[in-house]
Amino acid sequence: MWAPGEEVAKLTFYGLYALQHRGQEAAGISVADGRQIVVFKDLGLVSQVFDEQVLSSLHGHLAVGHCRYSTTGSCTWENAQPTFRNTPTGSGLSLGHNGNLVNTAELMVRAKELGVDTGQGQGATTDSDLVCGLLAAAAADTGIEQAAMELLPTLRGAFCLVFADESTLYAARDPHGVHPLVLGRLERGWVVASETAALDIVGASFVREVEPGELLAIDADGLRSSRFAIPEPKGCVFEYVYLARPDTAIAGRSVHATRVEIGRRLALESPVEADLVIPVPESGTPAAIGYAQGSGIPYGSGLVKNAYVGRTFIQPSQTIRQLGIRLKLNPLRDVIRGKRLVVVDDSIVRGNTQRALVRMLREAGAVEVHVRIASPPVRWPCFYGIDFASRAELIANGLDTDGVRRSVGADSLAYVSMESLVAASEQPKTRLCTACFTGEYPIPLPEDALIGKHLIEELNAAGRAMDPGSVGASSASVPAGYGAEEAIRRP
Ligand code: SF4
Repeated sequence: MWAPGEEVAKLTFYGLYALQHRGQEAAGISVADGRQIVVFKDLGLVSQVFDEQVLSSLHGHLAVGHCRYSTTGSCTWENAQPTFRNTPTGSGLSLGHNGNLVNTAELMVRAKELGVDTGQGQGATTDSDLVCGLLAAAAADTGIEQAAMELLPTLRGAFCLVFADESTLYAARDPHGVHPLVLGRLERGWVVASETAALDIVGASFVREVEPGELLAIDADGLRSSRFAIPEPKGCVFEYVYLARPDTAIAGRSVHATRVEIGRRLALESPVEADLVIPVPESGTPAAIGYAQGSGIPYGSGLVKNAYVGRTFIQPSQTIRQLGIRLKLNPLRDVIRGKRLVVVDDSIVRGNTQRALVRMLREAGAVEVHVRIASPPVRWPCFYGIDFASRAELIANGLDTDGVRRSVGADSLAYVSMESLVAASEQPKTRLCTACFTGEYPIPLPEDALIGKHLIEELNAAGRAMDPGSVGASSASVPAGYGAEEAIRRP
């Protein structure tokens, strides 16, 4: 956010609050006032990390905010964002990243050549921090804007970046536009956010999407746009299914309307005799409404969700995930007793939620449970920003539809077809990423050994194993790019 005269930290806080569903492991805000950058970040939900006192202490005219869902690097304080680096000329750079890069190993080699710390010392171990380090290192020669124009075309994968020095806010979106990034206007400034819903919540009007392959710079001179790559749109179709808020629009298409249409099409493709359609709240709700419309079967609420328990597959460990399923949903026994139910959910990843759910509904008196899924089977991992699971953990990878049905214990199971999902999004299939359903990865992947959530940590460990002297050296000295700890406030 760039907005002189506004309380940018508080507005950014509300923007992050609106985007909490995109990441629940850590949150942070950096503010700049033209002279210095201050970063405040910690592990936890936005509301746990920030309070009135902290927000009131963050002064400036521009801010970068982030809520983290890890796809590269462990869940540590250092890996929370915005990440921060000093440039060799002494100015600062803070950066927030949505997405995941696939040429991180290559970037690490480049970083080492330039003497940029890659997390061997007290630094972060994320692809995002690597980008921040490379940008900061290059900025000494050319300034940040030019450094970004040279670095961004060399990044591979999915990236929506917002970064800032003391006076200028930048935003960039990968040439494929995998995840959404939008530009909004405040009366006295500009906002860039992952979803249009965040613009609504901070009172900004939607201007346009940041284009794939575009770099924006916003400062006292206004807004500048540069093109760093030719756009080749491949928007994540899973944003429509699950990731984005229903009150967001992506590529001009309402996410809610897309989900209702998916449900309507699912009803026509996979009808069943039943008494009641119930959603798995919240992301299954619009598709269940659509299923009820398409089938003529009454719609009702059969499950109550505890709104304060995080999304299950977004939680980092299996233990917490299983606990989450039990804590998350409770059946309305009076509604479902004696009924033949159609239960509509957005997706099946591991199958744990649906198995627990079907059991819970039968125990609560349902006589039949028919599961309908508003996406095709997830058979492939995502390398562009969703930490689904390894291929082996994906239930649809090893089982056909009837195998999954038996595994979750449903009377029947059906997924919406790929064709209907694409049609409901109103985007041409050629402009969508569907890799987790089809295995067709639009951005080429490196070999297995050069990809993975803990790649930087593993490469650092391998480097240390090869050079025993480097362990002591890196832990005893302040690595390059980490000279400004005073600018980062640890709660
Ligand atoms: S693989 Fe799936 S979740 Fe990942 S970007 Fe592509 S469509 Fe989205």
